[in-house]
Amino acid sequence: MSDSPPFPALPKKDRGARLRRSLLAWYQTQRRDLPWRRTRDPYAIWISEAMLQQTRVATVIDYWRRFLTVFPSIADLAAADEDAVLAAWSGLGYYRRARSLHAAAQAIVERHGGRFPANREQALALPGVGEYTAGAVLSIAYDMPEALVDGNVERVLARVLGAPGAAGSGPLKRFVWAVAHELMPEDDAGLWNQALMELGALVCTPTQPRCSDCPWKRSCAAWASGSPTDIPAPKTRRATQRLDLQGLWVVREGRVVLMQRPEGGAMAGMWELPTRRSEESLPSTLWSAAWPAGLRPRLGAPLMEAQHAITHHRIRIQVLEARVAARIPSPAYEWDFANLEGLPLTGITKKVLAQLGRP
Ligand code: SF4
Repeated sequence: MSDSPPFPALPKKDRGARLRRSLLAWYQTQRRDLPWRRTRDPYAIWISEAMLQQTRVATVIDYWRRFLTVFPSIADLAAADEDAVLAAWSGLGYYRRARSLHAAAQAIVERHGGRFPANREQALALPGVGEYTAGAVLSIAYDMPEALVDGNVERVLARVLGAPGAAGSGPLKRFVWAVAHELMPEDDAGLWNQALMELGALVCTPTQPRCSDCPWKRSCAAWASGSPTDIPAPKTRRATQRLDLQGLWVVREGRVVLMQRPEGGAMAGMWELPTRRSEESLPSTLWSAAWPAGLRPRLGAPLMEAQHAITHHRIRIQVLEARVAARIPSPAYEWDFANLEGLPLTGITKKVLAQLGRP
């Protein structure tokens, strides 16, 4: 027998109706005016949702605008070079998502005439489109009664119903999805889903929920318990690993040496300074402890340091001036500074170039 407390019952019809009424009324007056909320274009909404899974709203706004300027339609995205897509995504991290967007755009052109399908099974069959993204695009763009659960929705629904279980755990996820389906209204599905997410983003935040401003305060189990932040229980986190790197700054006649990361690994296909792990760094599969073969660098003075965070890693790179062999071995390449703009660069390389720039 399990010791975990049981999950509460799903909300009955009249409670569900009250929750919907109060939240939708709150959303009408409190929602943020975000650019992707001014359109019903499924492509624009899809891109915003993909980016919002990566980073904060404030960062997404500029990326979203730029991405839609470079690729104004699904057909434009499908026809683009992968390098151009990665370049437009560069800085958002998790490049597999950008590759999936590109592949999904090609599938949409092939199978659905260039329009995001208004059909759940067809949407879920697209590369990189999971339950959350399908629910978001179908409900917001097409008003289809499709539920969605992201971290915000999970937290809000777990709190209001007093659900046990750790954040992100299988049992809690299943329960919250069941609640989200149960509460889904027949009309205004997109508004409802956005209202749920907005409550989690603005009021029912992870560590400092503003319960006194919450439209659900009166029927919230977590608020009644007196310690709303105890729900959901924290998930066990993977420790962050610190990595110390050294990068080479090799510039000859206005050209800088960069290396392309191998296919199949992290940040595949992106360009970075020739990089190695420092001797004192913890081991990692992301960078080798040796300089890339054939470069034979002669190290000069340290030029700068930069810090960067990627999933589960805090990275510090020391950039050294260097000379390398006259013939640069592939996959290294000497890039003209003028041609770097459209190149998919790793986040840390972007930071270094922003500081050192053109010599
Ligand atoms: S009352 Fe507090 S804990 Fe409950 S849903 Fe609102 S903000 Fe979250």
